[in-house]
Amino acid sequence: MAISTTNPATGETLKTFTELTDSEIETKLELSKQAFEKWRKTSLSQRAEWMHAAAAILTQNKAQYAQIMTLEMGKPIRGAIAEVEKCALVCRYYAENAAKFLADVPVSTDASASFIRYQPMGAILAVMPWNFPFWQVFRFAAPTLMAGNVGLLKHASNVPQCALAIEDIFTQAGFPDGVFQTLLVGSDRVSDLISRSHIQAATLTGSEVAGASLAAAAGKQIKKVVLELGGSDPFIVLASADLEAAVTTAVTARMLNNGQSCIAAKRFIVVEEIADRFQQKLVEKFAALKVGDPMQLDTDLGPLATPNILKDLDYQVTQSVKDGAKLLIGGQKLDRPGNYYAATILTDIPPGSPAQKEEFFGPVALLFKVADINEAIELANDTPFGLGASVWTNKAAERDRLIDEIEAGAVFINSMVKSDPRMPFGGIKKSGYGRELGKEGIHEFVNIKTVWVK
Ligand code: NAP
Repeated sequence: MAISTTNPATGETLKTFTELTDSEIETKLELSKQAFEKWRKTSLSQRAEWMHAAAAILTQNKAQYAQIMTLEMGKPIRGAIAEVEKCALVCRYYAENAAKFLADVPVSTDASASFIRYQPMGAILAVMPWNFPFWQVFRFAAPTLMAGNVGLLKHASNVPQCALAIEDIFTQAGFPDGVFQTLLVGSDRVSDLISRSHIQAATLTGSEVAGASLAAAAGKQIKKVVLELGGSDPFIVLASADLEAAVTTAVTARMLNNGQSCIAAKRFIVVEEIADRFQQKLVEKFAALKVGDPMQLDTDLGPLATPNILKDLDYQVTQSVKDGAKLLIGGQKLDRPGNYYAATILTDIPPGSPAQKEEFFGPVALLFKVADINEAIELANDTPFGLGASVWTNKAAERDRLIDEIEAGAVFINSMVKSDPRMPFGGIKKSGYGRELGKEGIHEFVNIKTVWVK
């Protein structure tokens, strides 16, 4: 895939970029190695000062950064501005908490002194997706740099201006040369990068195929990997739920980022008692969404990021309908320039159809009706993925059961699934392994050293 900026709202390619040559990569890897030797010895208070400066730059220029994101991948500008603000938040969070998370932990043993020390590993490679082009990178970079590692970013090929802007933010904030670098390279260079002795570990957010490929290459080198992959999150609504709140949140949880979020609610599992009312309200709210130019503040639904995503989604919907699913609204590309797809709802989804077994990365809700909580849990877990789950009930016993029995990295009760710097984030099953954010996130890329003094 060429490294370029193509506006998804118009289809126009605005700028193309040349990939780094082998010798340019070599220079950057050497720089990161030298930078690490100094950075690991830089005090936490100095690292925090620069991380706060990065937060300030993000906040001051949020409109400008939001526009770059929307231009390159089409997210509605309101969401893009919120994304930049969240990046500032994660920078501040780790600037304020890293010292506490990285402090020695005394352990009482029969030694005269014994404790755990957290030490940086070196250069960490981040292979990142286009869907939250700032947030995904900052939630990697803030803990990783605060821990004393240096970062190398291989961003998705359709968001090069985002990738360069992020490198520039760290430079402007005062981080020394080489502590955070963007590598403009295609995905075919990732396996080679992870094999290089300069890189100690990697994290990838993206598809299962990409994750498996990186994990295989890293496995050969015995290098650690964190994987944040796809999801087909259930959104379960039981009879005791506040129906209006559930439907309103359902729309946001499905449509955020034009439906292209790993933790979007994708499968709506509703008990029969309230299913017709839920369905009717959902259709009404989907029909009322404002589709349009993502640069406008009042746009709810913009274009998909690339023509391929549009093609894949259209195929999944068409094939599911051919297999017997019922279309309640939408179901086609929109007749306008750009990668627009109609807000769509499918129900009566037959086993074996794409809608039953695959992740739908776009504005398509999959509606399932079940008899009771037992069926709801069974269906929710009947997926290769296990990222998040949103469950709606006002009964304590049902809530406790759902928390216990849903197979996912996160369960949100009466709320949509979202990431928060203070809480760990990640999946199980084919949604990946390892955690980002919270205390757990900063501990992924450190040497957890056991110290024993006789
Ligand atoms: P993708 O194709 O896997 O791309 C993600 C990144 O991986 C890009 O930088 C891409 O580079 C690179 N890549 C692609 N193939 C690769 C390979 N074989 N080896 C190494 N790197 C490779 O993913 P996407 O389609 O852009 O993103 C959507 C997927 O990401 C969805 O499944 C979504 O659920 C998941 N996602 C998960 C999370 C999470 O936190 N769990 C968050 C966001 C998205 P190029 O652009 O150069 O191809």
